[in-house]
Amino acid sequence: MQIKELTAVDVTIDRSGKKMSIIWGDDHSSEYSFDYLRSICPCANCDATKHGGTPVNDGSMDIARFKDIAMSDVEEVGRYALRFTWSDQHDTGIFSYTYLRGNCLCGVCKTKWKME
Ligand SMILES: [Zn+2]
Ligand SMILES: [Zn+2]
Repeated sequence: MQIKELTAVDVTIDRSGKKMSIIWGDDHSSEYSFDYLRSICPCANCDATKHGGTPVNDGSMDIARFKDIAMSDVEEVGRYALRFTWSDQHDTGIFSYTYLRGNCLCGVCKTKWKME
């Protein structure tokens, strides 16, 4: 059984707007700018790992250094994650839907999914 809140029904990549939108199974929609996504990359080589792979939703990430980032490619990893290739050649981050939902920037999710 899948958890509705963590099931991506629709993923839209807006390359010109430099953002990605996800519509979730509970009808919630999330929007992530590319620089934000790049900054929360959960791979072992990126800063986000200092958070132990849990949602980092705390505004501590250095987004500004990725302001010129572009998304070169995106692929689905099984049914549970997305993997991006960025214009800086970085492609080792596997963004699970749980992680993405946990990092939704809207006020509702910030409260609901906050993990310490
Ligand atoms: Zn990374
Ligand atoms: Zn949200």
